[in-house]
Amino acid sequence: MTAMIDLTDGASMTALSFDTRDSCISCGSKHFTTVWSASYEDASIQYYMDKYGYAVDWRSELSGQPIELAQCDQCEMLFHQHILQPASLETLYSEWIDEDQIDTLTESLEHASASTAQFEAATRNVRHILRLNRLLGKQFGNDAQPWRILDFGCGAAEFLKQASLFGFATWGVDFSTTRATQALNQQISIIPSLDSYREDNTDPVHAISLFQVLEHLDQPRETLTDLADVLAPGGILIIEVPNCGTDAEVLGAPRSFEEFRNVHPLEHINAFTPDTLTALVESIGLTKINPGPAHVTDKPDALLRSELTRFYEPKRTNQYFRKG
Ligand SMILES: [Zn+2]
Repeated sequence: MTAMIDLTDGASMTALSFDTRDSCISCGSKHFTTVWSASYEDASIQYYMDKYGYAVDWRSELSGQPIELAQCDQCEMLFHQHILQPASLETLYSEWIDEDQIDTLTESLEHASASTAQFEAATRNVRHILRLNRLLGKQFGNDAQPWRILDFGCGAAEFLKQASLFGFATWGVDFSTTRATQALNQQISIIPSLDSYREDNTDPVHAISLFQVLEHLDQPRETLTDLADVLAPGGILIIEVPNCGTDAEVLGAPRSFEEFRNVHPLEHINAFTPDTLTALVESIGLTKINPGPAHVTDKPDALLRSELTRFYEPKRTNQYFRKG
């Protein structure tokens, strides 16, 4: 089902089109319950949307468009029912979001400072690289290096730049023109789709990462299946998504900007809990693994906390999986 938004004020570059999902994006069930229903005319939605600083007049673009977050009765997956069609998603990420928008949103977020956030992201990336090196060495033997890694939705390719420094062979996939341009400026080449990888390469990759990507995809199950196809048997998949709740309580109507970000009806159209993330990925044949600790810290207590994850892994929406 498709609904066009008619734009008469000439403010828009490209009109948006929506699809309505009529089945669960994880298990395919047709039975689900609406847990949050809203409209873009609501004062709270307008307050949150304005913080994003989009490059277009979003009010006229989205007037009359419903917001409905559904939860599957069968598998408990949360997902938005009304989502942008693929061409409109492209419009969102290439026309609504530009460098000014990214700056405005960054200012709206409650990081201690941009430098602190960058430092934390860099140490997090190195922890992933150390874990991958250990897991892949065990699986394939160190003679199989360099590790071939593909970052799907790589943004400005921060992770790949670090992985390259550690000797990994890297590919980045990103369909956002703005972010791809940023990455090109930093001498990292990005391919626009997984098909481009398949056209140029016959070897499967040893690892795939999706950092804050799966929540954006119109067909997450299908994309995961395609990705698993280019992953070597025994290869590792890393996924990080926003955490939208627990078994006991999932996000419904957002009560803060942080909660709104997790279930943003245009951008975060799939809302995962630790359990629904595991269930979706395992349903396509991968197995969740405990990746064990990796230490990039000068704090003994952080090292100890991390060591404990060998024995007890807290439920999180940052997860590792192995193919086969
Ligand atoms: Zn379901």
